[in-house]
Amino acid sequence: MKKILVANRGEIAIRVMKTARKMGVKTVAVFSTADRNSLHVKYADEAVCIGEPPSNQSYLLGSKIIEVAKSLGVDAIHPGYGFLSENADFAEEVEKNGIIFIGPKSQSIRVMGDKLAAKDAVKSYDIPMVPGFDKAITDVATAKEMAAEIGFPILIKASAGGGGKGMRVVEKEEDLETEMNHAVSEATASFGNGSVFIEKYISSPRHIEIQIMADSFGNTLYLFERECSIQRRHQKVVEEAPSSVLTPELRNIMGEAAVNVAKSCDYLGAGTVEFLTDDDNNFYFLEMNTRLQVEHPVTEFITGLDLVEMQIKVARGEKLDIRQEDLKIKGHALELRVYAEDPLNNFAPSVGNLEEYKLPVGKNIRVDNGFEEGQDVPIYYDPMLSKLVTYGETRNEAIQLMIKAINDYKVVGVETTLPFGKFVCEHEAFVSGNFNTHFVKNYYSPEALEKTAKEEAKVASLVALKQYLEDKKILRVISE
Ligand code: ADP
Ligand code: ADP
Ligand code: MG
Repeated sequence: MKKILVANRGEIAIRVMKTARKMGVKTVAVFSTADRNSLHVKYADEAVCIGEPPSNQSYLLGSKIIEVAKSLGVDAIHPGYGFLSENADFAEEVEKNGIIFIGPKSQSIRVMGDKLAAKDAVKSYDIPMVPGFDKAITDVATAKEMAAEIGFPILIKASAGGGGKGMRVVEKEEDLETEMNHAVSEATASFGNGSVFIEKYISSPRHIEIQIMADSFGNTLYLFERECSIQRRHQKVVEEAPSSVLTPELRNIMGEAAVNVAKSCDYLGAGTVEFLTDDDNNFYFLEMNTRLQVEHPVTEFITGLDLVEMQIKVARGEKLDIRQEDLKIKGHALELRVYAEDPLNNFAPSVGNLEEYKLPVGKNIRVDNGFEEGQDVPIYYDPMLSKLVTYGETRNEAIQLMIKAINDYKVVGVETTLPFGKFVCEHEAFVSGNFNTHFVKNYYSPEALEKTAKEEAKVASLVALKQYLEDKKILRVISE
């Protein structure tokens, strides 16, 4: 493998290219006209414009990307996350053209890309699942019957769903019809597939997922868990590893369950098996993401492994060179997704120009970043600017370093989730480890954020005033 094309943009394209470069592999970037001046384009050895800004005219043009790859003599394509990464047809086309797809086989993607097919595939492995009906429906009458049997609250989910979309919580029967219609139309609009299914809504769950890695010799490792319970709109904002609630026993049981999920679809490469856990330490299979996950850096910190390097190695047919018993968790890592979103306005996207943009630096601080000062944040894509990751020997050390790194991160021109990240790190529920996926609903409000910010400003101004008075005293002494 001498040359890799990265079919993605932003921080993840750069992240993948960094490892390729470290391994002596050449890199090719693709970009839309909106990204002409982007960092991923500058970072790559070669870069090719593939179309207009909307993703369906550029980053989602599978055949165009394959054409570019062939014309430049590319050996393998890394899809990153989002875009074509979980598109089974694309993976298949890549392989048909004699190029390696850095990811699982298209059949595994196909099975796991559909939440119902995934549940069906893992059935014979005794994996615990959220109570519900594993059957696609589109009509309200059937939904009512199912809901009555499961008991409210229930969750309507799009089978083809992803990114927190196509999901509706229903608290009581009166709301079922409206919510059902919403879910079906949202699923149709987002995924071109209106089938939904119904699950019991787990009342105060934590989202705990297991990273796995498989080679083509039948070896599958679990690289421990990530806790991703701090979410808005069912989508993660803060992630950490390890979770503060897993016992070593539960970690092994969930790890082995995740390995079985991978085996059920003959998995190859990096993948993530997502679970919900409840207060009684029960865990339930949610879905498998058949790609590198956004939050993979926290796993890299606590295991010392480079997941992209492992992906590349198993994709070119190498055997995994570590065994499960060699793996140990060391320290604690925390990640904040720095989105260009306004935490004071319902996390609405906040696009604009990065008039000032300075990253924090220091030991145990890692920033996977896709932007630089002066650049515009385009409206066409996911508004994530970077991922801020900190590491410490203990959870508290990682949290304190995160607060410091947030203070040192300077962004002017757009609103970001940085103040929200600080709010989380300073909140008693997060610090104590006693939180669930309802953290935002239970504790967060723009007023609460403003209140903490005001208190800090007050402290800062008192410190400044004290300093001023002391300076004045010295000046007085000098002048007297
Ligand atoms: P992870 O499970 O890795 O944290 P997310 O569910 O947050 O992943 O999705 C990863 C990225 O993939 C998102 O940031 C987004 O860019 C993209 N993505 C995934 N699913 C969708 C979707 N249905 N619609 C739009 N973007 C999506
Ligand atoms: P996606 O494909 O959008 O990532 P997931 O099935 O992984 O969908 O769920 C995303 C999030 O939605 C979970 O992390 C959790 O917060 C919430 N969720 C999903 N299923 C349930 C459930 N049955 N009960 C409670 N919360 C759920
Ligand atoms: Mg998910």
